[in-house]
Amino acid sequence: DVVTRFAPSPTGFLHIGGARTALFNWLFARHHGGKFLLRIEDTDRARSTDAAIDAILDGMQWLDLDWDGETVFQFARAPRHAAVAAELLAKGEAYRCYLTQDELAAMRAEAQEKRLPFRVRSPWRDRDDGDPSAPHVIRLRAPQDGAATIADKVQGDVTVQNAELDDFVLLRSDGTPTYMLSVVVDDNDMGVTHVIRGDDHLNNAFRQLALIRSMNWCEPVYAHVPLIHGADGAKLSKRHGALGVDAYRDELGYLPESVNNYLLRLGWGHGDDEIISRAQATEWFDLAHVGRSPSRFDFKKLENLNGHYLREADNARLAGLVAPRVEKLVGRALDDADRDLLARAMESLKPRAKTLDEIADGAIFLYQPDPLPVDEKAAEVLRASPEGLLAAVTERLRGLNDWTTEELDAAVRAEAEAAELGLGKLAQPLRAALTGRTISPGIFDVLLLLGRDVSLARLDAAQH
Ligand code: GLU
Repeated sequence: DVVTRFAPSPTGFLHIGGARTALFNWLFARHHGGKFLLRIEDTDRARSTDAAIDAILDGMQWLDLDWDGETVFQFARAPRHAAVAAELLAKGEAYRCYLTQDELAAMRAEAQEKRLPFRVRSPWRDRDDGDPSAPHVIRLRAPQDGAATIADKVQGDVTVQNAELDDFVLLRSDGTPTYMLSVVVDDNDMGVTHVIRGDDHLNNAFRQLALIRSMNWCEPVYAHVPLIHGADGAKLSKRHGALGVDAYRDELGYLPESVNNYLLRLGWGHGDDEIISRAQATEWFDLAHVGRSPSRFDFKKLENLNGHYLREADNARLAGLVAPRVEKLVGRALDDADRDLLARAMESLKPRAKTLDEIADGAIFLYQPDPLPVDEKAAEVLRASPEGLLAAVTERLRGLNDWTTEELDAAVRAEAEAAELGLGKLAQPLRAALTGRTISPGIFDVLLLLGRDVSLARLDAAQH
């Protein structure tokens, strides 16, 4: 049975690359009816924070990436990691190394002088006359001859000469396990069958494999996914969108389904399909179609996807997401009636929007105080409007029995004909008077949403 895991280090937010790794692991597990596990790699005590853990869990919940079983916290498992090191020591697969910091520094300096890559070749590999009560670390007795090949599902066969491996440290002199040891023990104990992660871990995989083989444990299948780059091909930085997932939600106003769809397409493909639902992704996802070259982050694509998912989204849900943004923009709380209006307006507001903020901005006109603030462009439209035109159309509207689309449409058309103007020419000053802007939903939607009283009051005010 397939078991995958996501193993973030809680030293910062859940960034977009991490979210993609989590998504790929989630999809692979769900596709195979297996398990997707979460392990928080909190062994760096100085840099791991509770806030970062919360941000990671929160981000995964937002992206609807549910995990199976209890969250595993790596630091709590340190005794188990140390026990494995002791076992390796007992089997002769590891050894106590008493090299001092000074000796190590001298070795490093010598390698540098000879322009050789620095690999620890500890004399203690072949000595057993050390004093275990003296300070020492425990190193893996790594293979020195031959080569190791990883049949990586994304990178293909990758071979490394064992001579390039070093006898890396398993336990530090204070008895704490290293990252390399902890990862291997945890993956084994959690029954992980597939390790899907960023290709910055490919080099580590060879050391981890040596350790796995020393323990005679099952070797997982590896899939090292190329990292995400910015649109210009450079390594992803903040400027490129290397933000926390929460920023995509809060600051930028994206829907989780857009971010998921975007992250999926960023590194994996299914023909020319761009819009891929969660259900389809689960059905189709495989490692064979993960790309080998770094993918480039493209905000335009993400925006377009978000526009698509906004149009598809349920209006009541959208209104709930947009309301706090509107409140911020208009500087007051929305009451029940205001919220109700927002939900009714959603169908007219969302067609052109790419983000929740754009929808919120488009909704401002519904909540403006009296007198209506009018922006520069709208003021210009009103000044340029033919004398008496607004007054005439206002009188027609005031005379309507029913404030319905049909009646409003008929009245505005009748006025356009009488004034020998195109409908658009008449709609412009109407829009400016009703919304204080030159861009808004369709004019009949605006009239309907504002209702008779507010509409007539704004039209009257615009003529003074
Ligand atoms: N904790 C590691 C990281 O955040 C991931 C380790 C792994 O996936 O094996 O980069």
